[in-house]
Amino acid sequence: MLVMKFGGSSVADRAQIEKVLGIVRGRASRRPVVVSSAHKGITNALIAAGEAARGGASAAGAAVIARQRAIAADLGCSPGLIDPLFDEIADLCRGVRLVRELSPRSLDTIASFGERMAVRVIADFFTRSGLASRAFDVWDLGFVTDSAFGQARPLPGYEARMREAFRRLVPEGFVPIVTGFVGKDAAGDLTTVGRNGSDLTATLVAAGVGAEEVEIWSDTDGVMTADPRLVEGARNIPRMSFDEAAELAYFGARVLHPETLLPAMGRGIPVRVLNTNRPEHPGTVITAAPGEGGRPVTSIAYKPGQSVLTVTSTRMLAQHGFLARLFEITARHGITVDVVATSEVSVSFTSDDKTALEAALPELSAIGTCRLSPGKTILAVVGHRLPERAGAGAWILHALAEAEVNVEMLSYGQGSINLTMVIDDAEVDRAVRALHSTLLAER
Ligand code: ASP
Ligand code: MG
Repeated sequence: MLVMKFGGSSVADRAQIEKVLGIVRGRASRRPVVVSSAHKGITNALIAAGEAARGGASAAGAAVIARQRAIAADLGCSPGLIDPLFDEIADLCRGVRLVRELSPRSLDTIASFGERMAVRVIADFFTRSGLASRAFDVWDLGFVTDSAFGQARPLPGYEARMREAFRRLVPEGFVPIVTGFVGKDAAGDLTTVGRNGSDLTATLVAAGVGAEEVEIWSDTDGVMTADPRLVEGARNIPRMSFDEAAELAYFGARVLHPETLLPAMGRGIPVRVLNTNRPEHPGTVITAAPGEGGRPVTSIAYKPGQSVLTVTSTRMLAQHGFLARLFEITARHGITVDVVATSEVSVSFTSDDKTALEAALPELSAIGTCRLSPGKTILAVVGHRLPERAGAGAWILHALAEAEVNVEMLSYGQGSINLTMVIDDAEVDRAVRALHSTLLAER
């Protein structure tokens, strides 16, 4: 089986869905399982409708329903096809308006409609176009999750249930069109795996059914050496390792949801990143074995809008347990720490949650003097050959020095494939361009 995931822009409208039809048809012999996102913009519109309803707006769902109705009509779907879902959206918005409350659980239910509507219109359109397809809500295929609304994960053992459900429910010769993003907990409440989570659904489904490969179809030519909006010379990376791709996804490359690779990594299922608008482009293939070639650096990623917190205390000197006390506080406040650097008397760390850092400040101030600096960017230089290359650090820092970028924090662990730095948000463009032209320019 081949799991093919199509993102929101790939299924934005009829023109895009026709491209998807051509791509899936071309792979019919590999027993494709399509995992689809909502049409572009629909999830945002559903969430906005929920929020408007909480604010007291009447008929909050009308705009998103009209938008979805227009896409379905354009695809020639019979007018009644998804009316029951439209009714549910309207009812839900009415309920939210009455109670003026939008819990994480209600928010997941509202957000879930995008994928549920999309798979139904796509399967209907494919079938009328001669590719026999059937729409599925992923929970009917065994995807039962925990109840962590907004970040649900499948319950252990879901794989066996999924294989069994596929055997029982997906008729031979039909392409299953499956909802990304959503799930259902054991109590029957709807959940989601988190924004942009359809990639993750795709690899989880692939792990469940034991697929030979996962294809992630979006609107770039695979994974790029740097953000093409910043760097004119950004290029496609033909091959990379799971480790490299995971670091890049986590540190800001926007092509993959950060957790996407874990389920595929665990089972050695290759992940290919491809462009719906240029299906002939080979994209990027991500496998356990790192790519060939001598380039020490594979790619540059960045994540703006971070805050740095520095705790300084002479009590750290020759003491044990200081870091444990520090991170016990951050853990209790639910702060995800990304980059850490320490000296003898101070510890600096980053987080993207400034509000939580502020809330933790009184407690942190009890163990040392604290300074909170917002407006920072994590800059990551990733490459599986970094650890074996003498002078790689000097090379990277020199490029930044030449561009007059001030590196405020630096972290690199033994054997690491990622040299991580923290700079000011205002210097990102300059830093990424300088690094790309030094480390990744075409030779
Ligand atoms: N439709 C969902 C979102 O917009 C999931 C996804 O696109 O992957 O977040
Ligand atoms: Mg999306």
